Amino acid sequence: MPGDEQLQTRGRLVRSLSALREMLPGSFVERRRRCGKPDCRCANGEYLHPQFQVSLLVGGKPRTFNISAELAEEVRRRVEMHKRFRRTEDAICQINLRRFLRREQQKKETTEG
Ligand SMILES: [Zn+2]
Repeated sequence: MPGDEQLQTRGRLVRSLSALREMLPGSFVERRRRCGKPDCRCANGEYLHPQFQVSLLVGGKPRTFNISAELAEEVRRRVEMHKRFRRTEDAICQINLRRFLRREQQKKETTEG
């Protein structure tokens, strides 16, 4: 039955969310920049310093936080978790909507029949 399959899929999706509990909000950004010191090897533009940031809205205002190079990979991974969380949330809602609309349809048919 397609309904049972949907429930199985929904259960699998809901369970997969717990693996994303360390998610972080925002967008991960990697930039290359000059530090401004005239004697640094970045001054001529051949070498640029990597700079990692997370951009997000805090209380409706855009904010950017610098991330140390040591933590950059972890933060990148955890921001990616949030994207997966939102895709999973959307999939769960779509299943629930289809199930709800089918129930409404069946109710209508019962009333009319
Ligand atoms: Zn420099």
